[in-house]
Amino acid sequence: MLFREHNLAVKPVIGRFAPTPSGFLHLGNVFCSLLAWLYAKSSGGKIVLRIEDLDPQRCTRQNADQLARDLEWLGLTWDEGAYVSSNSERYFQSQRSDVYAHYFAQLQAQDLVYPCFCSRAELHAAEAPHLSDGRIIYAGTCRNLTETERRERSQKRAPAYRLKVEHKPISFCDGHYSEQSYNLMEESGDFIVRRSDGVFAYQLAVTIDDALMGITQVVRGCDLLSSTPMQLYIYRLLGFTPPSFCHIPLLVDATGRRLSKRDGDLEIATLRKVYGSPEPIIGLLAYLAGQIAKPEPLRVDNLLPIFTPENIPTKNIVVPNKLTKMNR
Ligand code: GLU
Repeated sequence: MLFREHNLAVKPVIGRFAPTPSGFLHLGNVFCSLLAWLYAKSSGGKIVLRIEDLDPQRCTRQNADQLARDLEWLGLTWDEGAYVSSNSERYFQSQRSDVYAHYFAQLQAQDLVYPCFCSRAELHAAEAPHLSDGRIIYAGTCRNLTETERRERSQKRAPAYRLKVEHKPISFCDGHYSEQSYNLMEESGDFIVRRSDGVFAYQLAVTIDDALMGITQVVRGCDLLSSTPMQLYIYRLLGFTPPSFCHIPLLVDATGRRLSKRDGDLEIATLRKVYGSPEPIIGLLAYLAGQIAKPEPLRVDNLLPIFTPENIPTKNIVVPNKLTKMNR
């Protein structure tokens, strides 16, 4: 009986692809999408496609169209979201400012958000507190400005808005990297939820979207591991139930540099021309993910019966040299 009750309470897995269309898909993005797909589909779950085009300066609809075509070509299909749902536009972050504004106002009403007038130069000044990896911890400079000071400063510059964090640990168990604990006060300080140009920040948007789109499982690159406590904090403040989080290693070149859109690394568009079919690319990624002993052509559904998450490496994964040479 206990078992049955437990089973009934288990929510179906809903994973997601959440690409940023600031360039074309590269091999690293596809690696992440493949694992998100395998995690969800191997447990009978679904995938949602959300286009993270929050930043109008960097993202284009053309890039989004292309990445959807590339994912489809690779066999990485999705069940709901952009390009398939009747309300497809609502899966583009650029079309969701009204939703973000609603929850932003809730945080404001709880006095958890304040305007920050610090310039980039002030934030990056040598004396600003930094973590060993170079990230800056916001010192709380604008947290306690008086109303008069805020009024005066807003005459001169449009503020960004920061969320007040607490001085206590936020712990979670990552599906791949196990127990994690972060004290936001010590590791980020109050963080930005709305930029000075009015664009809502990634941390806020992604949390609201994952919650409202019913996402139960987030699989993404380990560069976002340290964003997770910020998002868990927002889940709590807004009264949402968080999904499970599973971070995976990044693909890097022989020098340890991660593949990136900016550097035009191993774009799928190039690989499509070189290989002509998706199977060699999926086979290579499956090999890099520790799922098969040597690269051999495969379709994504061939991987479902053999998917073994424990075999995914924990360290970043070096992409063979001959492949990185195909870079632009
Ligand atoms: N949009 C982000 C990216 O393309 C992913 C964000 C996330 O998975 O939370 O890197």
